Amino acid sequence: MTDRTLLIITAHPDDETFGCGGTLARYVSEGVKVYCACATRGEAGTFEPEHMKGFSSVGDMRWAEFDCAKKELGLAGIIHLGYRDSGMTGSEDNKNPQAFTNAPVEEAAGRIVKVIRQLKPQVIITSDPVGGYRHPDHIAVHKASVKAFEAAGDPAQYPEAGPAYKPQKLYYNVFPHNILRISVALMPLFGQDPRHLGKNHDVDLASIAKIKFPIHAVIKFLKPMMKKRDQATACYASQLENRPRRRSLLDLLQKLSQDDRDSFMRASPRVNGRLHEKDLFRGVQ
Ligand SMILES: [Zn+2]
Repeated sequence: MTDRTLLIITAHPDDETFGCGGTLARYVSEGVKVYCACATRGEAGTFEPEHMKGFSSVGDMRWAEFDCAKKELGLAGIIHLGYRDSGMTGSEDNKNPQAFTNAPVEEAAGRIVKVIRQLKPQVIITSDPVGGYRHPDHIAVHKASVKAFEAAGDPAQYPEAGPAYKPQKLYYNVFPHNILRISVALMPLFGQDPRHLGKNHDVDLASIAKIKFPIHAVIKFLKPMMKKRDQATACYASQLENRPRRRSLLDLLQKLSQDDRDSFMRASPRVNGRLHEKDLFRGVQ
């Protein structure tokens, strides 16, 4: 078999580590070249002012955190697709002309096609169709990635983006539905309203928990990979909640989640019925 390459396409620095950092570390340890193409530099993230020390822009600060995570996970490269963080719906960042959600999907897909044709990944991971928690950038990266996955192998599409190359498998990183449902049921006990979560109270986990994506692949990883993921997580100091004594949503979800595995839905090749893959490269030629 030729060199194995995995590409994860995300919206913001930290999505790769918080979403499936253990899986990425596992494939790095198996000799796979793992790249992350990220639509934005996370410019709309909120954080304590102390994190800006030594940086002149939010994008620079968050990209430095991304670079730190890249080293901890052992990624072969991180690529910025050239857009700006759109923030949550209705925020000021949404209106910025550079905001990722203001870009036509065809244009964003073209940039991703170029990356796919250069790196030639057999396997691609991206966000699920609701972007995890309905973040507009996650939904946008999902749509652009699906379009790019389909277009990359067709020489008639985006001819300026290089010679056609067809990736073999596409996965969506999904959060296990049962854990989400348990969390929604338990949250009121922790004084949290599952309909109004997050720093801006605009994340409705109760409605998200009603959507059930099938899980076709569960990727397990060993302690050394969990450690790498945790070290990469620590790189994102500006995005970690600094509330050691209070139970946050993240604490709750982490307690309920199985810490040694990530879940994926396989979008291509399409799955009929059940599937329990243990390796994203299964069947790859
Ligand atoms: Zn994100």
